[in-house]
Amino acid sequence: MKTEFTAEQLADPATAVSSQAIRKCVHCGFCTATCPTYVLDGDERDSPRGRIYLIKDMLERDAAPTADVVRHIDRCLSCLACTTTCPSGVDYRHLVDHARAYVEARYRRPLPERVFRTLLAWLLPHRGRFSWALRLGALARPFAPLVAGLDRSGRLATMLELVPRRRSHGERSPRVRMQAPHPDGPRRGRVLLLQGCAEPVLLPSIRAATVRLLERLGYAVEFAAGEGCCGALVHHLGREHDGLAYVRRNLDAWRGRLEEGGVDAILATASGCGSQLKDYGFLLRNDPDYAPLAARAAALARDLSELVEGEAVQRLKVGVSARIAYHAACSLQHGQKIVGRPRALLEAAGFTVIEPAESHLCCGSAGTYNILQPRIAARLGRRKAERLAACQPDAIATGNVGCAVQIGRFSGAPVLHVAELLDWATGGPPPDALHSAMGDGAVATTAPASVGGGHA
Ligand code: SF4
Ligand code: SF4
Repeated sequence: MKTEFTAEQLADPATAVSSQAIRKCVHCGFCTATCPTYVLDGDERDSPRGRIYLIKDMLERDAAPTADVVRHIDRCLSCLACTTTCPSGVDYRHLVDHARAYVEARYRRPLPERVFRTLLAWLLPHRGRFSWALRLGALARPFAPLVAGLDRSGRLATMLELVPRRRSHGERSPRVRMQAPHPDGPRRGRVLLLQGCAEPVLLPSIRAATVRLLERLGYAVEFAAGEGCCGALVHHLGREHDGLAYVRRNLDAWRGRLEEGGVDAILATASGCGSQLKDYGFLLRNDPDYAPLAARAAALARDLSELVEGEAVQRLKVGVSARIAYHAACSLQHGQKIVGRPRALLEAAGFTVIEPAESHLCCGSAGTYNILQPRIAARLGRRKAERLAACQPDAIATGNVGCAVQIGRFSGAPVLHVAELLDWATGGPPPDALHSAMGDGAVATTAPASVGGGHA
């Protein structure tokens, strides 16, 4: 697509990146077939190609964003399915990020909208605040139908629905008790585990299972004091400055360990956070004080499925079995381009794994999207839950806490993190949600552990 930015506009690094992205687009429209918002309603302005046109026009004219353009940008999930489909390699991710930051800086949203978005940005990235909000939400949940009647936007009722019904017993605290390192266990490496913000509050069992699994596999797991949200939640709200502040805070927390060397990986158990970590180098590319460290952190960022090897899981497996429908999170399959590895690991652990139809389509979670766009998100969530239910699973597995909570709203089957299943299959406790759904007999191990090379 031809662009007409002036030299002065192109001097802005974000505009230069957007111009490159737009110029790569050849209007072919392949991306429309896999864009969830286009698949739902068939509106070109809610397709990647349509949004590229709208963003191009807005940026080229240096125009104030109109309510109409903002609506179509807001409806984008940032699921990045379009980047998987696009044959021209359009960098839609950074284009829409730029558009969101541009809108945030130059568009005055109605007051209730501004207040609501500010509240989300204040609340969600902080474990303490979010934890208190969930407690209040649990008390208010019985009044959800009343709230739904009063709030026409549907946002407050959705927030109440998203308060998880399950909290794993014995793991209510975001703190994890580390296992003592096994003196004879192999040392595969040293892993910095991102604590993040929402995941340890919503489903602390994920992190507990991850620590058990990694230590059993021979990794030393460390947490850095002072780190927190990866920055993605506010970044996707267009709050670029706030998002970068979170990125810098995490880099400061890791600086000592990264500079002394010896860290083999920075692990994010939420693939949304992993996708953001892998972009740290790009995000701070123009900051001379942080660019080298950001690039190093991004190069070390790993998803759990990149760290764990199928052979090691096979050696440790204790003989559990279950029929698992695997939901590929967009931030993993499109954001990080990791396809196949999580399924292979689950199969190596002994599970029967089925992939649902339309596995490329987003479940509607997408950070704060299911709160800000509750109707579109609910349609996508229901559609995803139906496709997963057609697999007739004992449980659904995913690699992202947002997907687990969103799909859990619409699914009768328990939704678990891949780490919880791998931990169980290699000698950890059965996940509570699966225990309740399948009963004691079904989750009992069927063969003794073979723990060569590791420790339980
Ligand atoms: S990121 Fe997802 S919702 Fe947005 S344009 Fe691309 S495919 Fe559509
Ligand atoms: S698939 Fe790529 S090149 Fe084709 S219209 Fe979509 S973004 Fe443009």
